Amino acid sequence: MNYQAILESIQSDLKDYKNTGKVATYIPELGKVDSSKFGLHLNCINGNHYHLGASQERFSIQSISKVLSLAFALKLERNKLWNRVDVEPSGDPFNSLVQLEYEKGIPRNPFINAGALVVSDMLMSHLKNPKEDFLQYVRDIAGDQSIDYDTSVAASEMQHKYRNAALAHLMKDFKNINNDVDALLDFYFHQCAIAMSCQQLAQAFSIFLNYSKQDQSQQALAVPPMIAKRINALMLTCGFYDESGEFAFRVGLPGKSGVGGGIVALHPKHYSIAVWSPPLNEKGNSELGMKVLELFTSKTEISVF
Ligand code: GLU
Repeated sequence: MNYQAILESIQSDLKDYKNTGKVATYIPELGKVDSSKFGLHLNCINGNHYHLGASQERFSIQSISKVLSLAFALKLERNKLWNRVDVEPSGDPFNSLVQLEYEKGIPRNPFINAGALVVSDMLMSHLKNPKEDFLQYVRDIAGDQSIDYDTSVAASEMQHKYRNAALAHLMKDFKNINNDVDALLDFYFHQCAIAMSCQQLAQAFSIFLNYSKQDQSQQALAVPPMIAKRINALMLTCGFYDESGEFAFRVGLPGKSGVGGGIVALHPKHYSIAVWSPPLNEKGNSELGMKVLELFTSKTEISVF
């Protein structure tokens, strides 16, 4: 497959695309980003790489981090996690409080904010230095020790923490948060504030690919197949807020978006791909990022379906 030619044809198809999305401003620091930025990196299971645009420029990964914190938590605590977080799509916005009340403090899935807060709470209970240890995990799976937190984004989010604080306090009342709420929010906001490029994200998400038994160096980093199956299923059903059905319908891959405008998606047997374009559609997903991935799976005719 001539992936580079396909990527270039997507770029040319979209050169006059009128983006109707808007850069997220509810975290003021995110609003400062140049809305015209675009990057893409494709990492194939055979080791080949292809890229477009600002694929090496770092941006705020935001909710994409929720997949990595889940993978890390499942490494530390395999089964108990599912007593505290469910695995159903929520159909509500990512930061909604509504379902938590009647679900008795059990979030619908680990990729809405409530669920990610519970996963972070578990990590805090296991790790000596949660912020350092989580960052080290991300650096290791991305193969790049220079990855770091953007502390101004974390501080900006802490200043506007009210909705996430409300989620955490409500779950604490239901006894589904064990640590101090402010310390938990600080940890969670740092996770979301990790700055990574498309290249680093595509590499990090290769831990969810299904490497052959011969490929021992990659297999050592990859998450065990049973866990990859579950995380990939959750990305497919819950990775795009209340637009997960639309993403599956148009793109047909497991993936995860973030309000920084990044999307990572993958085909377990073929590739991981990361795309970045800051303007978001009404559901909070990168408008152009979704379009690019839709064209990618249409032109390659490779999706999980
Ligand atoms: N840190 C963001 C928040 O909690 C994550 C949002 C996202 O990317 O979905 O609001």
